Amino acid sequence: MYPEVLLHIAGEWRGARSGETRPIVNPATAEEIGRHPVAGKADLDEALEAAERGFKTWRAVSAFDRGKIMRKAANLIRERADAIARVMVLEQGKPLAEAKGETLAGADVIDWFAEEGRRAYGRVIPARADGVMQIVLREPVGPVAAFTPWNFPINQAVRKVSAALCTGCSVVLKGPEETPASCAELVRAFLDAGVPSDALSFVVGVPADISSYLIPHPTIRKISFTGSTAIGKQLAALAGQHMKRVTMELGGHAPAIVFKDADLDKAISVLSANKFRNAGQVCVAPTRFLVHDSVKDEFVTRFTEAARAIKVGDGLDSNTRMGPLAHDRRITAMESFVADAQASGAELTTGGKRIGNQGYFFEPTVFTDVPLTAKLMNEEPFGPIAAIRGFSDEEEAFEEANRLPYGLAAYAYTRSTALAERVASRVESGMVSINHHGLALPEVPFGGVKDSGYGSEGGSEAIEGYLNSKFVTQARA
Ligand code: NAD
Repeated sequence: MYPEVLLHIAGEWRGARSGETRPIVNPATAEEIGRHPVAGKADLDEALEAAERGFKTWRAVSAFDRGKIMRKAANLIRERADAIARVMVLEQGKPLAEAKGETLAGADVIDWFAEEGRRAYGRVIPARADGVMQIVLREPVGPVAAFTPWNFPINQAVRKVSAALCTGCSVVLKGPEETPASCAELVRAFLDAGVPSDALSFVVGVPADISSYLIPHPTIRKISFTGSTAIGKQLAALAGQHMKRVTMELGGHAPAIVFKDADLDKAISVLSANKFRNAGQVCVAPTRFLVHDSVKDEFVTRFTEAARAIKVGDGLDSNTRMGPLAHDRRITAMESFVADAQASGAELTTGGKRIGNQGYFFEPTVFTDVPLTAKLMNEEPFGPIAAIRGFSDEEEAFEEANRLPYGLAAYAYTRSTALAERVASRVESGMVSINHHGLALPEVPFGGVKDSGYGSEGGSEAIEGYLNSKFVTQARA
């Protein structure tokens, strides 16, 4: 059922030159389901040479034809979605419906970039002198090193790969070691559709070994990373030393402000669904629930009921609404957040414990009255834990929303248009979603501010990260 995981380098799917492999574990059973190759310097050198050749070939293909190939890749993903989704569940744990949804959404991302790549227009700037033509050309930045994590094995990779390919860049993709097979299937679809084999390599191994080799390498012109703020800062610093273009999509700690005039039914159903989706391992998951004192008790009771109603289990079981955490490190992390919150005096209203001792299942967990000093209010839990706090006035809510160095996503619920406008302007965040959960569509920007990173993974803004502007001025001969 679980495919053999291989590297893709220079047109060949193969193991590492060293022969070294590491285990891949099903998080629902904690059993080894396969092994992934560990790419070493020899493999990376071959991938870099391929990226150099692939860039020359692929940039010479017209944007129109690149788009056609990409749309074919999107259709292949759709045809293969059932099989890819099952593989994703085995290695990542999420419910099958979520895995299939992610896979199909990946196809939509490819389609959108396929089209948008055709509209990477330059411009003409009126000249001061007669007979002078001033133009700005948009050129692909060059070979890209993309680093993607395990929480959305397809979604995190498809945004980077599509934005890079549609502009004519070649890519060395370092996929997630915990969940490499579904990510590799994405790469396979691009290659089967006609992306030249040198233009897209797939490697996995030891993340720090790969990034420390690829980022400084002169072939690589652009780095795109999704992961934790701590690692992102290290990689951005390294990229800075070598003057490489960078897109960083890092951690978040999203505030969800529920004002006293909110539609509580909607707020509770939408926010609870998005808190526990993918077992909370989502960078834009709502985490700090700031609820007006007048509706807080009702919110806590009903949000707790919603959390208790979630059926946790193996992602392949059709009744499952929340799967296991993706690996054992997250269990340790959740236990530490819970112990710290309890020690700080927060009230646990549901959950708080690991479920069973097989696989990495954890109860949907809700705390209320969490002190600002608790670790849960300051560090990204990246798991199924919600922290609720009351507030008495709007200013207090904005102050708390902006207190942390993170600034990725923010949510608010209010029936007042004027208040919604104040939320949009006052909250320091790359994305603000009011009265619904409306983030992460291919055509809209996706990215953060402050410690959550810079650059965008969606919308026409995403393409900017893969293009250089070249100014050309020409006088009549
Ligand atoms: P981690 O910080 O060790 O790794 C996060 C991701 O970065 C993984 O995909 C990992 O392979 C990669 N990585 C780690 N060190 C690297 C390096 N030196 N060079 C290149 N890539 C490297 O943490 P983890 O235990 O895997 O995940 C937990 C934390 O990671 C969470 O708290 C969360 O903040 C963050 N995370 C964020 C996202 C996101 O969507 N923004 C996704 C996954 C993990």
